[in-house]
Amino acid sequence: MIFEPKAECQDPGERRALQSARLRALVARLADRVPFYAEKLRAAHVLPGDIRGVEDLPRLPITRKTDLRDTYPFGLLAVPRRECVRIHASSGTTGRPTVVAYSAADLELFSTVVARALAMAGAEPGMLLHNAYGYGLFTGGLGLHYGGEKLGMTVVPVSGGMTERQVLLIEDLKPDVLCCTPSYALTLASEFAKRRVRPEDLSLRFALHGAEPWTDGMRAQIDRGLGVRCTNIYGLSEIIGPGVSNECVEARNGSHVMEDHFYPEILDPATMQPVEDGQEGVLVLTTLTKEALPLLRYWTGDITSLTRGPCACGRTLVRMALIKGRTDDMLIIRGVNVYPSQVESVLARCEELAPHYRLVVTREHNLDALEVEAELDAAFAREIVRETLSDEIVEADTQLQALRGRVAHLLHDTIGVSMKVTLLPPGAAPRSEGGKLNRVADQRPRP
Ligand code: ADP
Ligand code: ZN
Repeated sequence: MIFEPKAECQDPGERRALQSARLRALVARLADRVPFYAEKLRAAHVLPGDIRGVEDLPRLPITRKTDLRDTYPFGLLAVPRRECVRIHASSGTTGRPTVVAYSAADLELFSTVVARALAMAGAEPGMLLHNAYGYGLFTGGLGLHYGGEKLGMTVVPVSGGMTERQVLLIEDLKPDVLCCTPSYALTLASEFAKRRVRPEDLSLRFALHGAEPWTDGMRAQIDRGLGVRCTNIYGLSEIIGPGVSNECVEARNGSHVMEDHFYPEILDPATMQPVEDGQEGVLVLTTLTKEALPLLRYWTGDITSLTRGPCACGRTLVRMALIKGRTDDMLIIRGVNVYPSQVESVLARCEELAPHYRLVVTREHNLDALEVEAELDAAFAREIVRETLSDEIVEADTQLQALRGRVAHLLHDTIGVSMKVTLLPPGAAPRSEGGKLNRVADQRPRP
């Protein structure tokens, strides 16, 4: 079903006119109400009246995470703080968190775009939603919660962690829809496998995963492991939280951006100029309708590309590819750009490996070295052990050595950098406890 057919299936030309009108109003309001933006617009020699529509976006200044930090906590608000009804914050692994605020209308918008996202993912009114996103300052839990209620679902606010209890609740309450990080979906799938619960015996049909990068390889594992047809949900707290875009369950070929509210551009990070549709670059978003914390051209750091044109689901909203990584999690290994998601895609092609891994970056003799710690698939490992027990230790060892060689070869061929491959026993790679999972250990000395 389509939650807001009029907006989601609008004629692209009409939508562009709406976006342009909203952008003009936004720029005027920012110039009037937010000193930070008034100053930035002055510096860029832009008068609010100069902006005719979205085609003029390249003339407008970029906003970065550091701007939110520098004006912490409430310096970028376009309404008095007392008109804000909720605060969220991003995890902020280093330094101060980034604080964001919502007016009553913003919360209405938040639940509406998440209701749209849930419907794109296959959810319908009356279905039961098992919400395993973390509740609290993180936008995931409350975001999906109110979106589910808005759509008319029965929401179970489980939050992250306590996997035993999650599994029990899924077996007993029989949810139709699951949402959590993709890495946690794998944790849940392996817990069910351990208990010998077959995916086809689970009630789950649809699942929404996001908050961290993932790949089509991982998608196949989750589909199979939980018996679902899962889709990607994307968002960030600065823009609103989850619900900036979602794949439709029909095509699963790019996430439809709620572009009547969040206008996407893709910029080449070297030139800062927009790239053609289909070309990769950094996603930059402008909030067209937000009240409390409107942002102009927010630099997400996330790498993706856009595709326009008809979609099997009937929506006309532009689609963005799965996030390849962030400019800041891109590893530069001996001059070559490497994204963890590229390594993940290669590992997913090897049947002998589980979808769990860790990347360790070190520097040896002034050269970057990347080690891939890949976990063995449990069934494959059992096979090897059986052979070991039957006194064929040499044979098993040869097999592992051959596997290591093959994976290293495949990585080098696909990515163009040689990496050391280490095989881990089943269960040894880090698992998600519910939140975002960090798979990279950068042990290089800080410059
Ligand atoms: P923080 O990670 O700092 O706590 P957020 O919770 O707002 O802040 O996270 C937003 C970021 O999470 C995005 O910019 C993006 O890098 C990542 N993210 C969110 N959804 C997805 C997704 N579906 N695929 C890949 N990355 C995602
Ligand atoms: Zn679609």
